Amino acid sequence: MEKYVLEILEERRKSAENKASENLALALKDDKCKEAYSNYKALMIENAKNEAYNKPIDSKKQAEALDNLKKNLERIGLKQEDLFPKYTCSNCSDTGIFENKECECVKKIKSSELLKKSGLNFKPHTFNESNYTIFDEPDKINKFYNAMQMWCTTPTTTKNIIISGESGVGKSFLLECMLSELIEQKKYVLYTTAFTLSQNLLKYHTTFDAGKEAILAPYLDCDVLIIDDLGTEPMFNNISEEYLYLILNQRMFEQKPVIVSTNLALNEIQDRYGDRVFSRLINKKVSKLFFIENSDLRLKKNKNN
Ligand SMILES: [Zn+2]
Repeated sequence: MEKYVLEILEERRKSAENKASENLALALKDDKCKEAYSNYKALMIENAKNEAYNKPIDSKKQAEALDNLKKNLERIGLKQEDLFPKYTCSNCSDTGIFENKECECVKKIKSSELLKKSGLNFKPHTFNESNYTIFDEPDKINKFYNAMQMWCTTPTTTKNIIISGESGVGKSFLLECMLSELIEQKKYVLYTTAFTLSQNLLKYHTTFDAGKEAILAPYLDCDVLIIDDLGTEPMFNNISEEYLYLILNQRMFEQKPVIVSTNLALNEIQDRYGDRVFSRLINKKVSKLFFIENSDLRLKKNKNN
């Protein structure tokens, strides 16, 4: 298990166990509670012994002792279960192992950490929530979404996905679904709007201290980079183009995918970002371009194909 997962689990365990110890300490400060607790505990031990030797257990006495303990705890504002650790995950008691396998909660921890890393500060939509009936041709959209979901789950030679279309055709929604799916696949996905990206590239250009590389690093390191709304961001002379090329070139070299949504047509991308960026983004070997028009969908083959 990854170190950060173990740390989170340990933190959860400690916090649950500390809380239980605190409650017990509080209960033992009260004399009547202390007495009831000692009685109950002694009875439990006795019964455990009896059980081991196949002797009869006085369950009535045990119930009475428990009842007495509960009443006394209640008097000081506690419940019986407050004396025991309340683990976040009741299956594995925050150990991460359940029935000799990695517990489901580990997957959740990983997903939420990946989501935090993704830069998205809200819970993204998922493919399960997609409603194709809002589109004029739901079957086509359904097919397209299925293909996009498949792309997220299956390794393919297509590294760049470019989704082009006017605003209001659900491009961002689709990107969110893809982000969710990729995180489900335990991928480190970085989501950025083109606006934030351009601001960061400007910052990178104008930073000259040790923090410089940390600005660019996530765009290079992430498994999948998602750039939303390319074409709406301000362009900075010699900066936007240069560093965008650097990112795309490096990612292409390492065969790491980039998903882009844009309101630009192919020739507009070329005009705006120049041939070098264009060739890294729209490349017949590794890129697929999709064009969504209004609520109708037309899947266009890459012109270079
Ligand atoms: Zn668990």
